Amino acid sequence: MLITNANLITWGAANQILENHALYVEGDRIAALGPSSELQAKHSQAEVLDARGQFVMPGNICAHTHFYGAFARGMAIPGAAPKDFPEILDRLWWRLDKALRLEDIRSSALVCLIDAIKHGTTTLIDHHASPNAIDGSLDVVAEAVKQAGLRACLCYEVTDRDGEEKAQAGIKENIRFIKSAIRNPQSAIAGTFGLHASLTLSDKTLEACRNEWGGGFHIHAAEHESDQYDSLQKSGTRVIDRLHKFGILGERSIVAHAVHIDHREAALLAETGTQVTHQPRSNMNNAVGAADVEGLLRLGVKVGLGNDGFSNAMWDEWKATYLSHKAAHRDPRRMNGATVAEIAVTNNAALANVFFPQAPIGVLAPGAFADIIFVNYHPTTPLSADNLPWHILFGFENSMVTTTICAGKVLMKDRRLLVLDEAEITARSRELAANLWKRIADS
Ligand SMILES: [Zn+2]
Repeated sequence: MLITNANLITWGAANQILENHALYVEGDRIAALGPSSELQAKHSQAEVLDARGQFVMPGNICAHTHFYGAFARGMAIPGAAPKDFPEILDRLWWRLDKALRLEDIRSSALVCLIDAIKHGTTTLIDHHASPNAIDGSLDVVAEAVKQAGLRACLCYEVTDRDGEEKAQAGIKENIRFIKSAIRNPQSAIAGTFGLHASLTLSDKTLEACRNEWGGGFHIHAAEHESDQYDSLQKSGTRVIDRLHKFGILGERSIVAHAVHIDHREAALLAETGTQVTHQPRSNMNNAVGAADVEGLLRLGVKVGLGNDGFSNAMWDEWKATYLSHKAAHRDPRRMNGATVAEIAVTNNAALANVFFPQAPIGVLAPGAFADIIFVNYHPTTPLSADNLPWHILFGFENSMVTTTICAGKVLMKDRRLLVLDEAEITARSRELAANLWKRIADS
């Protein structure tokens, strides 16, 4: 496939904007990149996808999400509003996840995947929980991802909050799924080992996880002070120290949030090369505070950007990152636009490549995965590689994504989905969500 008449945003090591260029896609990779006329002459027989002067750039990456949370949209929590994050977990998320059945898991994943295609997010790192439907749950999510044609890394969150048997079942589900993903390394599906958070994990379970799997974990850490209080009480050490003691940190591990950590914990994250993800919309919504993202970056921690189950419109997360740190510090110099791009583009791409090492992700270059979006943006001021982050922050809208390609396959063209039946999936989701809400109310 030859994508012609494109203004390419390459997001390479030195970002470039290349006007009137073309991309030649072969299989799931970008085979060549060059001036439109040159590549058209070279590949005259190729099927042509005319970008009609739109911006063509790598698909967005989401470093931490929860497909299973889709049915929470608009769900009422009876009684007084939860006063803090522990109450939100207890009264919303731990009721919702217990009510999930395999069919709900499939439906909520499909809803999120449609949202991702429509908003140009092509790689997602998911963290799944469904305590009453553990066995096989990751296969159900993986099947939905394959149907959607996107790229995703999946895990099941192991936790002790529902007893030892379910903790063991969670461990088994991770190991089973990771092994099956390793057996099929060419696919767009990868697996890692999920853990909920220090505050719901005993020493015994952490030990068991380390014994079962040494290849990296995906865990929430220090999202709220309660995680620290719990860790200090349980182990006499702070959360990140505790995770380090159990071998949870490392270059293949993702720590989501890290809002309430001290300097030593930040240094431990840097020393171990652990990946940290930032989710500002979620942090604001749960009122847990603002992570010291700039401080972590200065220490050399590779902070990436996730959405924690918010919409898969990653530019909204860019904007929240840019604005929330300025507001939190009452200082407009905080969280420079270029820093947001470093987090959302460079660091997310490096993180995605940990799980999909076969080819570069998040860059338009020969040999890279053909994960590509078209953006119908008409700048009203000069746009260059240097000021692009501010055009994205102040000008780009997620609805401007008109075409989404993942692994060389066109999933949406001119805003028309070519995979998945949106009307049917949406109607089914409404029906299943209503049933799930009723089960929660009756429980
Ligand atoms: Zn999360």
